[in-house]
Amino acid sequence: MGVEYAAIEPYEICSIRPPTENASLTFRLTRNCPWNRCRFCPVYKFGASFSRREIAEVRADIRRAQRIDDMLFDEGFIGLRGASGWDRVPALVRKIRQAQSDALGMTGMLPERAMPSAAPSAPDAVDDPRIEWFMSWFREAPDLADSISHVYAWRAGGGETCFLGDADSLILPPAYLAEAMEAARAAFPTLRRFTVYGRTKSAVKKRSMKELAAYARAGLHRVHFGLESGCDEVLALMDKGVTGEEHVAGCLKTKEAGLSCSVYVMPGLGGAALSEKHAHDTAAVLAKIAPDFIRLRSLEVFPQTPLEALVREGRFVEASEERVVREIRTLVEEIDCATTILSDSASNLLSVGGRLPDDRAAMLEVIDSYLALDARDKLLFSLQARLESFHGQYGGITTDIVDELRPYLTDDGVDYSRASDDHLARVIRLIRGKLMP
Ligand code: SF4
Repeated sequence: MGVEYAAIEPYEICSIRPPTENASLTFRLTRNCPWNRCRFCPVYKFGASFSRREIAEVRADIRRAQRIDDMLFDEGFIGLRGASGWDRVPALVRKIRQAQSDALGMTGMLPERAMPSAAPSAPDAVDDPRIEWFMSWFREAPDLADSISHVYAWRAGGGETCFLGDADSLILPPAYLAEAMEAARAAFPTLRRFTVYGRTKSAVKKRSMKELAAYARAGLHRVHFGLESGCDEVLALMDKGVTGEEHVAGCLKTKEAGLSCSVYVMPGLGGAALSEKHAHDTAAVLAKIAPDFIRLRSLEVFPQTPLEALVREGRFVEASEERVVREIRTLVEEIDCATTILSDSASNLLSVGGRLPDDRAAMLEVIDSYLALDARDKLLFSLQARLESFHGQYGGITTDIVDELRPYLTDDGVDYSRASDDHLARVIRLIRGKLMP
């Protein structure tokens, strides 16, 4: 039987997921974050409220994704290389809308079909360009093009991984998670790896060891925890709702249950005042956990977050870029366990990564060669690194950045010799303000 184009619908996907899950199929078991109090975190602070989803809703989304996958096969998308598939998505969306109009006996084309499920309304309008930028990427209610691109990206990425969101799937009973994974595997038999985000507090308080082991037996492979810090003062300041010791207990329990443990750490989160303590305490906590992966994600203060209010009130002073790099140096030096460090975030100035302990010296060398630069060269290094991150993330440079750099453009490239330190710092700030962490 051919594809029923009129029956193709969008489904809810997890816009916020670990970078390793960028090409994963994703399904929302909950929406947004049940905690949502961390002061630095902009993700769900703009009108996206938390809700749980019935398993029937999740099953319906899996069927919607399966229909899209079947359509992509029928349309000959699967196996396409390069940009050719992406280029065809808009035409496919028009074809679906036309089929839906025809099915209703309408002339003309139906506008985008509303989400069939009871998704919360899109985040409130905000007037800050950086938040608008962020929200253009965060999709509370994905449309057809988002959903088709998502399934296509999964197929193009090998078709083996699945992320089940949103921010804390450890609040879900094992039987529920098992049912969701089973339904996803039944619809997409090539799935091999399932991962979730979780809070260490949930691993400690909400789930018994038996329940965590049940997740693993049902096929869950890895939990990504946002540790951010091992320092209790920093965790309290940021209202993370957890202590360093609870981080340790939650991660060790997860590992013992047979699940892989990947943790996020946020250099800079202690600000200037707690910088050193944040680094030392975090290294100590990480050494006790020995997670499989440590992912560095340097602090960016987002507008309209509670942390930005602390900055405005003078109660939080950001650590300098150099200070943040020194924190990373402390981590690399002091994390005394076998683990892998990754810098897979555009928020990081340096690309520090490798296996500990073997690659410790090489990582320190990357850090020390930056620290050895004089103040002016540090600025130039940062500008170049941030420009490259921006280009890597968005595939080009926006006109406001080009306008700032225009005075220094030459026939051969760019010459910053007439640029003041203040102006370089402002351009760096402008670019960082647009990067997605
Ligand atoms: S738990 Fe995670 S998603 Fe929730 S507010 Fe904190 S950082 Fe944000």
